[in-house]
Amino acid sequence: MASPLINRLKTFKKKCVISAIVLALSLLFAVLAGRLSAQEAADYNSPTAKFIRVQVLDEAGSFPLRVNGPYEIIDPLSNNILERQKSLKTTVTSSKKGIFLGGKNFEFQKLLIKPVGEEGVLLNARRFRGDIYIIKKKNSKLSAVNLIEVENYIKGILYNEASHYWPLEALKAQAVACRTFALYQIEQNSAKDYDVTSDIYSQVYGGKASERYRTSRAVNETAGEVLTFKGKIFAAYYHATCAGHTEDASLLWDNDIAPLKGVPCFFCKESPHFKWHQVLLLDKISSKLSASGQKIKDIQKIEALEKDRSGRILNLRITSADKTINIPAKDFRNIIGPNVIRSTNFSIEIADGDAVFEGLGWGHGVGLCQWGAYFMAKRGYDHKRILEYYYPQAVISKMQ
Ligand SMILES: [Zn+2]
Repeated sequence: MASPLINRLKTFKKKCVISAIVLALSLLFAVLAGRLSAQEAADYNSPTAKFIRVQVLDEAGSFPLRVNGPYEIIDPLSNNILERQKSLKTTVTSSKKGIFLGGKNFEFQKLLIKPVGEEGVLLNARRFRGDIYIIKKKNSKLSAVNLIEVENYIKGILYNEASHYWPLEALKAQAVACRTFALYQIEQNSAKDYDVTSDIYSQVYGGKASERYRTSRAVNETAGEVLTFKGKIFAAYYHATCAGHTEDASLLWDNDIAPLKGVPCFFCKESPHFKWHQVLLLDKISSKLSASGQKIKDIQKIEALEKDRSGRILNLRITSADKTINIPAKDFRNIIGPNVIRSTNFSIEIADGDAVFEGLGWGHGVGLCQWGAYFMAKRGYDHKRILEYYYPQAVISKMQ
């Protein structure tokens, strides 16, 4: 039988071993946790990390805002911290002299809400990574702008631009095109309160809820890759389906560079959007044209005046009993609705008060043909070959 002293020694030894294990484990967790947050902090604070300002809300009278963790409210002009709290659940409203939130009035026209951890911000029940600017506009309405690291922004838009089950190389090509386009927008909009909106007028940004494993993987595997031409970022446009030939950007916008001059595309023949068909009442067309300032009634004829080498119509002539108007086909498409008239490559027949459109492709046709990229990837082309094909003479570079 062991003496009480030996027993106490044994218990002490056991306790020491357990404590050592607990200590080692907690150290390991601390190191791991420390390493992760250090990495994240490094990304966040790195002078090379690029941020984009995404307008996620505009013209709001008020909106709900929530941060499930510690956060700071900062005056973005002076960088002074105005408040530091543990969590936030509030409705933001515009007040006479500033912005009212969290039961307090801030006499500022612009505030920065900065979560301290990785919780992100819930705005109108949508979760966003990064920080949120709240801006009181001159008309006293509020707008909110998400300041987010470019790589995370690309993760938040890619799912809306391409299906996440697409071949990975097609998703990677799309990620590089989106990243390039985003950086181009940052360059163009430095004087504004935001670089891009989150709707169809920019690239559709859905916040964290739009992230998927495969689209995020495509972003991570191309991290920092962008397209340049003569050393400069350019507007790397893309569209759903070109239906045979991509478009020369200079015919649509003031953008005349080699990578956007258009190429033949043999890859998108099997795209579900290769052909489209639309029947519209002539009266509907005349009312839409009239509402846009092109007054016309009783349309009798719609004709294609000129086509470009890709087969798309440049100008249309629309004739009624008493007048004729000429209109660029791209304007006609925008007025009637870009998803109603899916492209400017179409033929028209008029029958019994209807205009019958038979069209090819979907989108403006400039740059990357998304369904072409899908089928190229299916055939084994990698994302670099896909990008070189659709943006000739462009170079894949690392983001500066
Ligand atoms: Zn195509």
